[in-house]
Order: sequence, then structure tokens, then C-alpha cells
Amino acid sequence: MKSNTLLEVRNVKKYFPVKDKNLFSSQKHYVQAVNDVSFTINEGETFGLVGESGCGKSTLARLIMGLIKADSGEINFQGKNFLDLHGKELRKSRKQMQMVFQKPYESLNPKMTVGQIISAPFDIHGVYNKKERIQKVKELLEMVGLSQQYINRYPHEFSGGQRQRIGIARAIALHPKLVICDEAVSALDVSIQSQILNLLNDLQKEFKLTYLFISHDLSVVKHVSDKIGVMYLGELVEVGDSETIYNNPKHPYTQALLSAIPIPDPTYKKEQIILEGDLPSPINPPSGCRLSTRCPYAIPVCKEMKPALDPLDTNHSAACHLLSNSKLQKIN
Ligand code: SF4
Repeated sequence: MKSNTLLEVRNVKKYFPVKDKNLFSSQKHYVQAVNDVSFTINEGETFGLVGESGCGKSTLARLIMGLIKADSGEINFQGKNFLDLHGKELRKSRKQMQMVFQKPYESLNPKMTVGQIISAPFDIHGVYNKKERIQKVKELLEMVGLSQQYINRYPHEFSGGQRQRIGIARAIALHPKLVICDEAVSALDVSIQSQILNLLNDLQKEFKLTYLFISHDLSVVKHVSDKIGVMYLGELVEVGDSETIYNNPKHPYTQALLSAIPIPDPTYKKEQIILEGDLPSPINPPSGCRLSTRCPYAIPVCKEMKPALDPLDTNHSAACHLLSNSKLQKIN
């Protein structure tokens, strides 16, 4: 692990058991939600994790937060394997990681005032006395662009964007190192999205925050991320600097995602890469490369062998048989 690495996810796997529809069958089935995923996030940077809904992004977020336990692999946070921590040490590390959720209304308790919601992390970790907590909540409200006077109001009295600001205030209350934003702007109007993204950007600069920014929308991820990881059916298929992924994507899945982003210019004709069929079931994913049933470039070996996430360049890796040396030009 490099000295400025804050989070290292290494070979993490999570399968969920599911019941067989046939009552008399003894065969066990699993949803292969996250399969052998590895990446690192350095301090102060934003790592964007992108992929279709159901590709395992949110499961990965819950694994990193310690809300569910991985079957295998390591989640090293500040140099310690999170999966080995217990008691006091685990609580201390948890304090350093917070989450902003997709649906601000559902993630805020409607029976609690804004003051109670934002100060909940203080209660959980036993920090500050009552007077200090009120003062801290007021400061946090100001930081996220809300009036201190809202402290005694309830979530239903706010717009979607304001509720997300409350969720962000709660997430930064304990000065965490890492904030996981799980589809944090997906439920918001486009104009509000940019306000929230600007707020996250400002807070990152002010508090040196590190973000794991999860979204199904590559155009949103591109605007906020230093590095991007692209997930497909529980696996990471391409990782690289934001500019590289956006301007020079190598994996067919990344290329297809990018080609689907509309360009606000009616005269510009963009070649669209169409992936055939629907997302396969994560209970029974295709053998070899998981994209092989939909990939326009698939060759026989794709169904037989899983491609490794191999480096293509400094800070750029992709998992595709066609990218191994001689066949590289096929999808360039
Ligand atoms: Fe497509 Fe084969 Fe590459 Fe998978 S390994 S992305 S199926 S070309």
C-alpha cells in the first residue's frame, strides 16, 4: 500500500445465498454480487464507481462501510484490514467513514428534527455536550448552505436538494476521512444535481475529504472523479484516470456506456455501441468474460476464459482478451 493510499479494496468477494425454487432440490445458488474486486483510493481524491443498476456497486459500498461482511478479500482502511477489526478499533475506523444515500427523504427519519438528525453521529460516538452539539449542528447547516434557523424543522418541510444537504451535513459531522456517496444525486433534478456536486467539491477542498462516488451515470461520475472504475455484473472491467477513461476507453463495456451519453449538439453524429440483450442474472453469470453474451467483439475464447484486469498503461487497466497485445487494435 502506498503512503497516501486511504482505502485499498483487494480481491473482495461477496455472494448471497438464494433459495432454489424447486423445494426438493439440494443445489445451492448464490447471487454473485461482488466477485474478486480490487482498487485503491488515495487521500483527497475522488474515485468514481460506475455501472448499470444491479452490477454490485452498492453492495461494494456496504462492504466497505462494514454493514455486511465480505466472504473473502481485504478492505484496508488507513493501513488496517477493516475485516479484522472489532470493538473499539472498529468503531474508531467507522467514525472515519460516512455515507450519503441516494434517496434523501428515505434516509432521514421523518420523526426527527434536522438538529436531531445531524447530531445523531455525536450521540452514537458520544462526542460533545448538549450545548456544543447545538452549536456544531448550526455550523454544519451553514457549511452545507442551509440556514441555522432550520434546526428544529422536520425533513418533510424541505425540498429534495435541501434534504440531500442535510444528509451531507450528517455525513461530515464527525470529520470523516472517507465519504461514500451512493447515487447521491441520482434522485435529484439536473439543476439541483450540479448544486450538490459543487457543494461536495467545496467540502472536499475545505476538509480534505476523500470520496467514493457511486453512480449509474458515467457523465455525472466523469465531472467529479479523479479516477474511475467501471463495474459489470459484479466485476471491475476497467480502471483509470478520469480523462483516460472518458477520452480513451478501452473496454467494450466502457465504450458502450460512453457512446450512450447524449451530446447536446444535434449536428454531431456519434457512433453508438449497442450491447445485445439484457443484463444476465448474477445467479448464473456467463462463463469466461461476463460480457461475452452481449459484447459485439466477442471471440470464442471469451466464453471459455475470464480475462484478467491487466495494466495497459500507468494508471489504466482493463479486463478484455482483445486488449492483450497483438489483438489490441481490434477495438481501438
Ligand atoms: Fe468482449 Fe471478449 Fe473483451 Fe469480454 S473479453 S469484453 S467478450 S471482447
